[in-house]
Amino acid sequence: MKAAVINEFKGPLVIKDVPLPEVKAHDVLVKVQACGVCHTDLHACHGDWPVKPKMPLVPGHEGVGEIVAVGSEIHHLSLGDRVGVPWLYSACGHCDYCLDGQETLCMEQHNAGYSVDGGYAEFCLAHGDYVVKIPDNISYIDAAPLFCAGVTTYKALKVTGVKPGQWVAIIGAGGLGHLAIQYAVAMGMNVIAIDTGAEKLALAKELGATHCIDFMKQSPSEAVQALVGGVHGVVCTAVSKSAFEEAYKSVRRGGACVLVGLPPDEMPVPIFDTVLNGVKIIGSIVGTRKDLQECLQFAAEGKVKAIIEVKHLEDINDIFADMEKGEINGRIVMDMS
Ligand code: NAD
Ligand code: ZN
Ligand code: ZN
Repeated sequence: MKAAVINEFKGPLVIKDVPLPEVKAHDVLVKVQACGVCHTDLHACHGDWPVKPKMPLVPGHEGVGEIVAVGSEIHHLSLGDRVGVPWLYSACGHCDYCLDGQETLCMEQHNAGYSVDGGYAEFCLAHGDYVVKIPDNISYIDAAPLFCAGVTTYKALKVTGVKPGQWVAIIGAGGLGHLAIQYAVAMGMNVIAIDTGAEKLALAKELGATHCIDFMKQSPSEAVQALVGGVHGVVCTAVSKSAFEEAYKSVRRGGACVLVGLPPDEMPVPIFDTVLNGVKIIGSIVGTRKDLQECLQFAAEGKVKAIIEVKHLEDINDIFADMEKGEINGRIVMDMS
């Protein structure tokens, strides 16, 4: 089968023929129809984080398609089912975290396109218990970004605890952020979006942000404090240390600063202000299978829709170059059909 493979950190991805994976008892094989490109894939290929991915690697954790083979122990799925293969490729199913609805914290988890091969290929192996079905009225192209960008931001918004009618700031209005704006609006929150460039800010406005701030032109936290006296919650998806500092300073007393973006930096936090202001700082990692079902349902009901530019597997090195420059509006999805 054809796949995009990286052999060494920071090297180019190479399109080549690789063996079709063997389907074991708990697996399903998915014929990939579309796969979104997440900034995490770029981090993986650069070896940015303390925990390194397997190498060589087929990246991709927004792969969606139809099931073409079902392992002998998988009884709830059938050939032809439309599913996605998310970042949470599998978890142990029996630890405290798995039992407590926190399966994304399982210590035994595998991650698609990181610890195991992912969706940048004609076929993708998946664990039958961890794929999630796509509602009939969502196309493969539209579904792909929901399997990471969608579920991650939907979950992060829940984690903020922001209520309908309150203010949330979305820092970084890229692949994740442009969906975060839509989920926040659909959940009844008032949104301030922060990114740079006329095109991205115009899109944020169109998607329902009440205020848009260009971080290159003014201090986001000062602007947020001036506009609404600080937000009840912030979701920071930007790949930049300074964005996290701004996120922290944008929150009002008692508010929540939810960290989602993953720059390989540390974030300085003033203890005195955090204590006196009762500010919560919370990490949020993707979402559970249940979060995914909920996030897909919003799309099925027409409440959110990713802004997508369709490209192909052969374009992947150019896509990564554009992503590094911050030149992508919305999400890029590779059509693999
Ligand atoms: P992206 O490249 O599509 O978007 C990032 C956006 O941040 C861009 O629009 C960029 O212009 C903007 N930005 C950069 N610096 C900024 C600043 N100082 N202030 C405001 N905006 C700024 O990337 P993406 O696919 O949306 O992923 C974003 C990050 O989230 C990555 O680090 C990725 O690894 C991480 N991620 C985390 C999770 C999780 O579960 N926590 C899941 C998926 C992705
Ligand atoms: Zn992702
Ligand atoms: Zn577990």
